[in-house]
Amino acid sequence: MKKHVKVYMKHFGYGEQDIIMDELGDGVAVDIHHIVLKSQGGKDEIGNLIALSRRNHDAAHLKLPDKVITRDYLLGVVEARDGEKAT
Ligand SMILES: [Zn+2]
Repeated sequence: MKKHVKVYMKHFGYGEQDIIMDELGDGVAVDIHHIVLKSQGGKDEIGNLIALSRRNHDAAHLKLPDKVITRDYLLGVVEARDGEKAT
């Protein structure tokens, strides 16, 4: 399991068998997304991680023609979730 997935699961107390839900309400999450991409200096910290469904993950990576999820939007979701500013 990748480190950022471990960080996410540990933070929220998920076990390996648990189903993680998309944080935007789109069913089951398939990926833990780095809001600030690792290639852009994003860290494996909870404030930079969000669980997303396949479709929302693709939208976050700007791969869908009909749906875009911006970094700022996701940062706002995580800020509300964690009650603090992302680092
Ligand atoms: Zn991603």
